[in-house]
Amino acid sequence: MDEFSDINQPWLEQIFGSFNASRLDMRLFGRSPESFHPDSATVAAMATYVHEHMHYFQTLFTGFGHILWSSHRQSSGYSVRKWKELARTGLGYRFPFAAYSDDPAGGQVAWVVDNTARDVSRISAARFNLPIPNCTFRELKTRLITTDWVINPVVEIAGEKVCLQGKDILEGQAHFVERTLVEALTSSGDIAWDRKGVPAQYTRAFDYFIERCGLTRSAEFPVICDLAQQTSWVPALPATEDDWRKSSPSWRFVQITDLIAADCNLSFGGPADWPSRFIYLASDIFKRLGYLSPEKVIEERLSAFTRVPELLDVEQVMKAAMEFRSERPWMAANPAADLTWLEELLEKFRAPSVVIDGAFVKFGEAPVNGSQIVFELHFQALANQLIGPIKIDDDGNGVLQCGFGQFKVDRGCPYQISHNCSTHFRPSGEPPVPTARLDNDEVDGCSFAFGLQSITGDLKKIQLVPGARFPAI
Ligand SMILES: [Zn+2]
Repeated sequence: MDEFSDINQPWLEQIFGSFNASRLDMRLFGRSPESFHPDSATVAAMATYVHEHMHYFQTLFTGFGHILWSSHRQSSGYSVRKWKELARTGLGYRFPFAAYSDDPAGGQVAWVVDNTARDVSRISAARFNLPIPNCTFRELKTRLITTDWVINPVVEIAGEKVCLQGKDILEGQAHFVERTLVEALTSSGDIAWDRKGVPAQYTRAFDYFIERCGLTRSAEFPVICDLAQQTSWVPALPATEDDWRKSSPSWRFVQITDLIAADCNLSFGGPADWPSRFIYLASDIFKRLGYLSPEKVIEERLSAFTRVPELLDVEQVMKAAMEFRSERPWMAANPAADLTWLEELLEKFRAPSVVIDGAFVKFGEAPVNGSQIVFELHFQALANQLIGPIKIDDDGNGVLQCGFGQFKVDRGCPYQISHNCSTHFRPSGEPPVPTARLDNDEVDGCSFAFGLQSITGDLKKIQLVPGARFPAI
């Protein structure tokens, strides 16, 4: 009964993990790494592990996930590239971009780059999660779309008006998959589907689906969530409100649910029916709603990788995932519906970066080289600090912060422990730990300072201007 008593503990009410799609960064909280080992994991730990992996699968197997990751990656790449160009015009390496505003030409370039990065992240947030869900593009204040289009649908659930966001669809699916697994492991539907303490974010989309389609069709819910995420990146910016809705998981979820509720021929049935029904039904539904077909979405994503001369490890994994999807798309909808599916996906597509208790943990063979993960972390930290704000130390001086500090990996780098490194450093002083490239090409010392040194040639060329602002226009 140990397992049973564990299930009744407040874990059902807690969030034991998090996942960031733009960094493919998975966190598992409150437990030791051993507690997630498949041989000894409790139901609670397995449920958390699978829930967060589900978010990883959403990134790998859907158009929306690829677009979210790629647009963030392209945007930070663009920021860093333009920053290097600004330095080469003789203006030096300044943080943040607003620190270039005393130069008329450089200030203008920096303003455009800074605003582009902010706009890209606002559009991504509009498709995923906004602090005020029910607002228009005009209120979002992005220069890219300035219309009065309502960003997310407002629907009625149990007589109340509810605004559904992309995150409600992604969390709804991950929660459903997690609970499918709990039901399989405990053989108890009552425990698995108990709503006590479950945040509304996990259940809103499901409740909408059940009100429209009925409880007997609940197995189809994760399929609809998955299809809502099969978005195309064409056009990159929607020209019409209809285009926007086709590119937004929240609108698509509502449109697909309403369509299948109105036509009983459009039923995916249970998981055993999916291998024979999923592909043709998904194509039919997409055609009726005027969406780009599922095969074309996969083609579009795969062809994006052919435009890159050399793929990162992460990109190779994303490409392999889309190729996998083209053959068996139903498996990613609810992997826990058949434990052999779950086993295969967890084996083939293990999360590349898992942080438990502040440290990176490896589960088996890592699909992404560890130094690429660290490089990516620092690269994103650099791009973030170009937008600002720049932190200041106790003496009031500006400091830069490495990726471990920015993204709170408290034990990600050995020097956080051995040198008590604060993750902050002043480029005008010495790096926290002296850096060198070893014979085997590995980096010794502070890897963030090493990266900045190789970009700038001399860390002392970096100027930090905390509090710099672009003039109001
Ligand atoms: Zn989640």
